Amino acid sequence: MARKLIIAANWKMNKGPAAAAEFLESFLPGTEQLLDKCDIVVAPPFVSIPAAAALLVDSAVAVSAQNVSDQEEGAFTGEVSTSMLNEIGVHFVILGHSERRSIYGESDQLINAKVKKVLDAGLRPIFCIGETLDERESGQLEHILRRQVSGGLADLTVDNMGEVVVAYEPVWAIGTGVTATPEQAQEAHAFVRTLIGEQFGDEVAAATRIQYGGSVKPGNSAELMAQEDIDGALVGGASLEASSFRDLIANAVA
Ligand code: PEP
Repeated sequence: MARKLIIAANWKMNKGPAAAAEFLESFLPGTEQLLDKCDIVVAPPFVSIPAAAALLVDSAVAVSAQNVSDQEEGAFTGEVSTSMLNEIGVHFVILGHSERRSIYGESDQLINAKVKKVLDAGLRPIFCIGETLDERESGQLEHILRRQVSGGLADLTVDNMGEVVVAYEPVWAIGTGVTATPEQAQEAHAFVRTLIGEQFGDEVAAATRIQYGGSVKPGNSAELMAQEDIDGALVGGASLEASSFRDLIANAVA
């Protein structure tokens, strides 16, 4: 099955509204040709989403948040709800990023609650999974991915899965400059697709887009995207400069 590539920029805690606008003003011209072959998503920090959404209103580049609450409203100081994201033009929400798991202690159970909340609100999760170096080196790769997929996607329907993008991000490759080899990434992606098949059936597995994340750059995006089970990228560092993000996408679709 042909799966359209989806490449997303995760800006993390970088770029206030002015810097987000400056990036998009430089990035947007010329994206039409790329959008034929690749869905493009940018995930600014919450406060920069309105500025980004205003510039993207006539573009097919989609807006993502980097997190959301699992609660609807009320006494949850510092949290942001799915209805608020809907109101400001958000399409996707990154959930389960390794920084949310490791720094903020998000569990598979909480991530699952957020995935369901996002789907209920008509938004689309970019659901992140991945192992640490210790876990890989101690032979736990498959065990960890199985736990994250079965826990994070628990209770979802086949229809729900049509809205989910999965991102495999080995923690040891995020922000380190160390990229998984195309073979390592392909092997993990094929395994994740098998897990999705076990949980939702082969048709869902074949249709689900699985991004690779972890030090993707203009120089390695082509060989990673050439792998059979890699359907896009979640990009941190190399998405912070418009020219680098554009080159990364152009090489990926070439
Ligand atoms: C990420 O934050 O999801 C990521 C993959 O970061 P980087 O591209 O910088 O490794």
